[in-house]
Parts: sequence; structure tokens; C-alpha cells
Amino acid sequence: MNFDQITEPLDQRLADGLGRLAAVARQLDWQAAESAGLSPTQADILRFVANRPGGSRLTAAADHAGVRKATASDAVSTLEKKKLVRKISDASDGRALALKATPRGQRVAREWPGSFTPVVSGLSEDEQALLYGLVVKMIRQLQERELIAPQRTCVSCRHFRENVAPGTATPHFCAFVGAPMSARHLRVDCAEHEAAA
Ligand code: SF4
Repeated sequence: MNFDQITEPLDQRLADGLGRLAAVARQLDWQAAESAGLSPTQADILRFVANRPGGSRLTAAADHAGVRKATASDAVSTLEKKKLVRKISDASDGRALALKATPRGQRVAREWPGSFTPVVSGLSEDEQALLYGLVVKMIRQLQERELIAPQRTCVSCRHFRENVAPGTATPHFCAFVGAPMSARHLRVDCAEHEAAA
């Protein structure tokens, strides 16, 4: 008997495994949100806004949370009532409003554990580095296919110089920091990110 004949295709099993991990992470997120008295969407938006000290537009927060603008707007109203988020003038357009986390909102978001932290904590550092490289690659492919909202990743940043020192331990370069980078240094949510043209 050949196992290939009685086993689901590899991509199917991989997708199934990732789906299970995502479900665990989502459940941990819900528990953390519940303990802070928030819905998962409110928690998602608070974390997103807290990571953008300069402010974030509602549309970007809605895209990140994967909800409609009206749903995001309801979530923001609740966060405002709880004094976790406030509205400010958008620095790039004075007539528009942006969302900013209050000091209390920053504190609540900071105290949350990353939902995938327990999922990856059982891997060795080398295994985490290997998996991280694959995650960066998958995010990049999804971005190129426009299947996820734009992310603040190195690979979409105008400061990123890819593979300028091939064959070395640090083949990439960040022109913002002015330092060489290896694959494990690449960021998926960098505050200094500026979209490449
Ligand atoms: S500024 Fe941030 S996102 Fe851009 S290349 Fe440097 S580390 Fe990466």
C-alpha cells in the first residue's frame, strides 16, 4: 500500500492544519478580549490603532479587522465610550479624522498576549526563524494578489533593498535604519514603513 493513494493531498492537509491553528489563536483572542470587556472586533481595532501612534483611518482599521466600515464604526464608538480610543485630526488631511489610542487604550493593548504566541512557543528558535521566513513569503504573495489589505512589511517598503549582498548572512538592507538585515530581521508590521511606489 502506498500512503500517497490513501492520504489527502499535502496542500489540503497543510491548509487544514493552519486552519486549526488559526482557530486556536482566534479562541485565545476572544478570551483575552472578553476578559477586557471587549468584543473580538473591538479588541482587533484597539490593537491595530495602538500600534499606530500617529493615528489610523477608520477604513484601514475596518480592513484590518475584516469587517464593514459600519461595523468598525460601531466598535470604535464603544471604544470611545470606554475611553480607550479617541478621534483626532488626520495629519495627512486636516478635514479627515483619525483614530488614536488613549494612554489607557495603549496599556490595555500592550497587556494582551499575542494570540499566536502560545501556538509557536513550542518551536525551537531555528524552527521559528524557518517558519517566519515562510510567513513573510505567504504575506507577500497575498499582498501581490491583493487578497489582504496592505501590510507594513519590509517587502512592500520603499526603504527596503532586497538581496543587495547575496550569499552573506545579512543580504538585505534597510535604508531607513541604515543597517543590513537577514531574513529573520524582516518586519511584518513596522511603524517606520513607507509604501514603495
Ligand atoms: S523602515 Fe521598517 S519596513 Fe521599511 S525596510 Fe526598514 S525595517 Fe523594513
